[in-house]
Amino acid sequence: MTEVIDGEAVAADVRSDVADCVETLADAGVDPGLATVLMSDDPASETYVSMKQRDCEEVGIEGIHVDVDVDAPAETLFDTIDELNGREDVHGILVQLPVPDHVDTRSVLRRIDPTKDVDGFHPENVGRLVAGDARFKPCTPHGVQQLLAAYDVETEGADAVVVGRSDIVGKPMANLLIQKSPTGNATTTVCHSRTTDLAAKLADADIVVAAAGIPEFIDGSMLKAGATVIDVGINRVEADTEKGYELVGDVDYESASEVAGAITPVPGGVGPMTRAMLLYNTVKAAAHQRDVDVSL
Ligand code: NDP
Repeated sequence: MTEVIDGEAVAADVRSDVADCVETLADAGVDPGLATVLMSDDPASETYVSMKQRDCEEVGIEGIHVDVDVDAPAETLFDTIDELNGREDVHGILVQLPVPDHVDTRSVLRRIDPTKDVDGFHPENVGRLVAGDARFKPCTPHGVQQLLAAYDVETEGADAVVVGRSDIVGKPMANLLIQKSPTGNATTTVCHSRTTDLAAKLADADIVVAAAGIPEFIDGSMLKAGATVIDVGINRVEADTEKGYELVGDVDYESASEVAGAITPVPGGVGPMTRAMLLYNTVKAAAHQRDVDVSL
């Protein structure tokens, strides 16, 4: 029987730990605050930001939101970031990506104070992650790591395949899996669009993390029996539903669940973990900035 990895349940545990930390911080006179910045009129980005604000409210984190006009010059966004960097009530800053084409994403990420960079995308934080001295682990791969730990999936000595090499998912995921640590120590292969024989790589994998953004392209016939399959992909496909679409992962759930030992559903797998880990990073940032001990 395949075990279904319940991301909603593990995320609820993380949120409960975060809420405890918020209380500890409050006792020390610190109200953790997360600032979200949106420079986009994409409805999906607007939804993501409002979900993040709602999540903050639920665990007692102060949510601050700033809209920057989509046609404003890049300097306006940089000024906003500078202002938030200087605010004592803001412990974490998240600029919702993507930003408009006339704004250089790398410059945006570099502008955020690395101690407030709760996405973990600032080059200093990327470097620290690679060096095995992470300040903030990026939310999605960190969430995957927490899911593996919650379900006692042995990473040590495992053969892991990460499908995708983006800066926000694939690369940091692979970095976490190869760390010399009890939650790492996996022999890790990173696949991408130029990988010649993905099926051959997957056939030997004890752990598969799929993050390519291609609907249901990994099916059960490509997987090793008993593998743990973590499906990061969130893809909209046309469907006969009220909204006219449904969300599917990168893995064909039906055939994969006949072969896998454990598998995450989409939705309800990695997605809730990504959101929970942002809250985790925010309380961690507040605790660090104000020198308060919290049990995270
Ligand atoms: P990107 O588009 O930035 O990266 C996709 C990666 O997949 C690239 O490295 C690309 O290779 C690789 N790829 C493309 N085609 C293939 C192929 N045929 N075989 C193997 N690899 C391939 O996406 P993201 O990393 O941002 O996101 C990936 C997916 O995860 C998306 O569906 C996204 O919506 C979802 N996501 C979900 C989150 C969650 O919380 N659950 C959070 C973030 C993302 P190359 O580099 O060569 O182009």
